[in-house]
Amino acid sequence: MSNKWVYSFSKERTEGNRSMKELLGGKGANLAEMCALGLPVPPGFTVTTEACIDYQKSNQINEDAKSQIITALKEVEKITGKTFGGGENPLLFSVRSGARASMPGMMDTVLNLGLNDETVLSLAKKSGNERFAWDSYRRFIQMYANVVMNFNISILESTLEDLKEARNVHLDTDLTADDFKQLVQVYKQIIANESGQSFPTDPMEQLWKAITAVFGSWMNPRAIKYRELNNIPSDWGTAVNVQAMVFGNMGDDCATGVCFTRDPSTGDKRFFGEYLVNAQGEDVVAGIRTPGPINTSSKNDSNRNEKTLEEYMPKAFAELTDLYQKLEKHYKDMQDIEFTIEGNVLYLLQTRNGKRTAQAALKIAVDLESEKIVTREEALMQLDPEVLNQLLHPRLDPNVKKKVITKGLPASPGAGSGMIVFNSEKAHALNETGHKVILVRQETSPEDIAGMAASKAILTARGGMTSHAAVVARGMGKPCVAGCSSITVDYVKNEMRVDGRTFKEGDWITIEGATGEVIEGEVPTLDAEISAEFATFMSWADEVRRLKVRSNADNPEDAKTSIKFGAQGIGLCRTEHMFFEAERILAVREMIFAEHTEQREKALVKLLPFQRKDFIGIFKEMDGLPVNIRLLDPPLHEFLPHTDEDKKELAEYLDVEVKTVEEIGERLHEFNPMLGHRGCRLGITFPEIYRMQVRAIIEAAIESKKAGVTVIPEIMIPLVAIDSELAILREILEKDIKQIFKDAGEEIKYKLGTMIELPRAAITAAEIAKHADFFSFGTNDLTQTTFGLSRDDAGKFLTDYISKSVVPNDPFVSLDQSGVGFLVDFACKEGRRIKSDISLGICGEHGGEPKSIDFCHRTGLDYVSCSPYRVPIARLAAAQAVIRNK
Ligand code: ADP
Ligand code: MG
Ligand code: MG
Repeated sequence: MSNKWVYSFSKERTEGNRSMKELLGGKGANLAEMCALGLPVPPGFTVTTEACIDYQKSNQINEDAKSQIITALKEVEKITGKTFGGGENPLLFSVRSGARASMPGMMDTVLNLGLNDETVLSLAKKSGNERFAWDSYRRFIQMYANVVMNFNISILESTLEDLKEARNVHLDTDLTADDFKQLVQVYKQIIANESGQSFPTDPMEQLWKAITAVFGSWMNPRAIKYRELNNIPSDWGTAVNVQAMVFGNMGDDCATGVCFTRDPSTGDKRFFGEYLVNAQGEDVVAGIRTPGPINTSSKNDSNRNEKTLEEYMPKAFAELTDLYQKLEKHYKDMQDIEFTIEGNVLYLLQTRNGKRTAQAALKIAVDLESEKIVTREEALMQLDPEVLNQLLHPRLDPNVKKKVITKGLPASPGAGSGMIVFNSEKAHALNETGHKVILVRQETSPEDIAGMAASKAILTARGGMTSHAAVVARGMGKPCVAGCSSITVDYVKNEMRVDGRTFKEGDWITIEGATGEVIEGEVPTLDAEISAEFATFMSWADEVRRLKVRSNADNPEDAKTSIKFGAQGIGLCRTEHMFFEAERILAVREMIFAEHTEQREKALVKLLPFQRKDFIGIFKEMDGLPVNIRLLDPPLHEFLPHTDEDKKELAEYLDVEVKTVEEIGERLHEFNPMLGHRGCRLGITFPEIYRMQVRAIIEAAIESKKAGVTVIPEIMIPLVAIDSELAILREILEKDIKQIFKDAGEEIKYKLGTMIELPRAAITAAEIAKHADFFSFGTNDLTQTTFGLSRDDAGKFLTDYISKSVVPNDPFVSLDQSGVGFLVDFACKEGRRIKSDISLGICGEHGGEPKSIDFCHRTGLDYVSCSPYRVPIARLAAAQAVIRNK
């Protein structure tokens, strides 16, 4: 059976519909849908994306498709009563590309195809408008030369400008038929001279070449690059729409324009658009003339004095009003519509769901629900959860011009300006004295926490989306651009270099974390505001979702932010940050340098009250909600002093030689980042560390309870690989807990469990579950230890890993696309098999990523946990997961 390569659309007969975007492209599917609705759309046909893919194999349109194109063309001739390529009433086509998703880099539209030295005369005669016919012809030559012949049309453009100058006119519309006639001759001459090819005169040849050019443009470097950046598979292909022309350039009762059914920047319910009289195609956006407002509510400072379409062509405007409302109801979303008016008759040329700002997206979804155009669930599905991100962070004032220096990874959204500072202590000190700073580092480490906290934004030259800087910045809700590899950070000269320019400490820059931009100087920002719509919308999400959403928060301030954003507990409270604070670090180091248990315990006793106080503060904020606290995770060497000053200070404090400090430091240095002497293994060799932490947690809980706070502590043991590691620690720690309860005469309900972050732990989850009240999937480390990237990336990862012994910038792969998801799913099943009521959650970065949240929903986790600012995103993603998987 032969394949169907061509789908017709017209009021009379339409073969496609809106659901066929994959085959017909977005534009083609919607043209078909509008025709089926009986809307005034010029007839035409769509050559499918499959034909495009087929074309790529042989570099020609197959015979089958060709004959189907000719049949469809005949049908358009019949419907319009015009003939393509000749006759008294010539049929002209527009040839328009249309991929599934709108894609810059693809071929532009060619209008008026089918004109040559003869058909132009028939067109002039039939329309009684010579000027129009020659205007169309010169436009056609220019567009065709540009997009089909790949001709550099700047010469043609300047010829037009020269002609206008010679005629002493400003606008194309002031040129006469003779002017355009002359222009056509000159254009053809220039093209022949410059390209050595003569302009094709056979309309059929023009059509084949134009279709071929659209298909060919799918593989042009710009399109390939765009697909690469946006993860669009190359086997999608693009469709071609061939459509009868209607003419907005046939006189003063003609026009062309674009409109939005609602305001795309605020979401306000106001019909909004621009138009141009006696114009064609892209004239409106090309800035050739100032377009007029379609109605009063579309007036702005530049078009205030132009006549509105409503005043100028009331009948066509009334029809447009009727149609936009129909389209919006039908598509159940704000539409971006392209139209043309020929002789006072309105035609629709395109409709699509309009692009909009985050603020508008939210307002439109809520309004459409209250207008009963969409159901609540449909409204919830309308918003990409990531969009909420923009609503919660300060953003750059869009009205201020910005000079972008370079771009890195958009690691944590929001915008901030400040002076460049290259070290954390300095950042901290400057902040204390009221300066705004931006911390710029090669990469950050736990030691930089205070410096990061003191900064308006963070910029790093190395590291990926889950690098230390990225994770911590997101947790803090601070803008961060990470992995900005074009920057060289020179700590010696205290400067950064980028593209031959040098920025010194103290120079001002601005970071736009949502786009990854690094901008010169200070750009003013606008504060985020949580609107009434936001609250309404989120309450809908909460009614629908099953997954609970917690946050990753290490201190009372983050806990407070989490609550503000709707977190239902803390899924990960890291304790090591607490060890870095200035007044504690010496005691921590004393503990590390202890030669024997008693010495270590002595140092730990100093830390106990600090930790207890930390936890009391967090419990208070999280009154009534669970708080999952992870015991010490990193290897000890991370806490060692690095600068000579610090080493000296420690040596004095411990009353030893600086040399001894250095020797012990070297001894402690860990090579294996994940599996070495850290986490639960460190906890087993030095149980007194975890014992102190657990004592702090339980005592804090008891004290908080006495103060009237409802505490639900969860104690998490990190990096367990083998069930016995957890069994040993559980026994030691529970013995202590019992004793503390006894001493206090008070008991607290608590859970003790583990993070599943090593493949072996996931595989042996059934064994581990025997000793765990909960699993929390630490998918950051689990991803690294599984090499859990997509298969392609895994290959690259391994090469980088082995050749450079570094973890490369990790492309973010959602759980259901990677081996990590398999492990999570497996461990959940195994855990539940052994312990049906085991609590299951996720605390890695995946916990805030919508696709992974869908996975967590399907896998049956109890909750996801993410950084405070991502909590609303996770709430919405969890609701969408329910709706999607119904
Ligand atoms: P884009 O994808 O860049 O929007 P289109 O294929 O929509 O490109 O074409 C751009 C413009 O060309 C349209 O907005 C419309 O003004 C004009 N155009 C396209 N097809 C026709 C047609 N059949 N008749 C008149 N104008 C057309
Ligand atoms: Mg368009
Ligand atoms: Mg870990």
